[in-house]
Amino acid sequence: MQRKLVLATRNRGKVREFEELLAPLRLEVYSLLDFPGLSLPPETGRTFEENALFKARLVSSWLGLSALGDDSGLEVEALGGAPGLYSSRFAGEGADDARNNEKLLRLLEPYPEELRRARFCCVLALCTAQGDTYTGRGFLEGFITREPRGREGFGYDPLFLLPEWGKTLAELGPEVKNNISHRARAVRDLWPVLVKVFEG
Ligand code: IMP
Repeated sequence: MQRKLVLATRNRGKVREFEELLAPLRLEVYSLLDFPGLSLPPETGRTFEENALFKARLVSSWLGLSALGDDSGLEVEALGGAPGLYSSRFAGEGADDARNNEKLLRLLEPYPEELRRARFCCVLALCTAQGDTYTGRGFLEGFITREPRGREGFGYDPLFLLPEWGKTLAELGPEVKNNISHRARAVRDLWPVLVKVFEG
C-alpha cells in the first residue's frame, strides 16, 4: 500500500494546515518545499478546479507518487467575486500577503459592514500514483474587517471576520481554523476517497 502523498504547493501556511488535517491517515506527507528543483508553472485555469487538477496531475507525473493539488482563494461580494482565482497575486505578480491585504482594504473602504461579505473557497484534487483523479471542495463565509486583526495563519486571515466568533481567522488560531476552514471542509469532502485510496 502506498503511504506517500505530495502536496502540490510550496505555500508554508497551506502545508502546515494540510499536515494537521491529514494526520489521522498517518501518511508520509511531502510538499514542493521538499523538492526545490520542481516549480509549478503559472496558473492558467479558468476555475479553482482546473488549477487544482492541473497541479495534482503534474506533480504526480513528475514524481510517480499520489499528489494533492489545492487551489483556493477569497471571493468578495462587493468586488464581484474578486480577488478569486487571483488571490495570491491580487496586488501584482510576486506581491506578498501584506500588499494584497492593503489593496483589499483600500478597495473596500467605501463599503459599509453589511456589504463586506466574503467567502473563502478551496478545491482539492487528488491524483493517485495510478493516475485516477478525484476532487473535493469547501467554503467558509464571513466578512472583511477594516483593519488587520491577529497574528496567526497566513494570507487574508487577519482580515477575515467570522461573525459567530467575533474574531478573525488570524485571532482564532490553528485549532479552530482547522476545524471550520474551507480547506478543512474540502478535506472532509474528500475524506472517503482518501481513506479508500490509502487504507482500502
Ligand atoms: P493559490 O491557491 O496558491 O492560488 O493561492 C491562494 C491564495 O488565496 C493564497 O495565497 C491566499 O492569498 C488566499 N488564501 C487561500 N486560503 C487562505 C486561507 O486559508 N487564509 C488566508 N488566505 C487564503
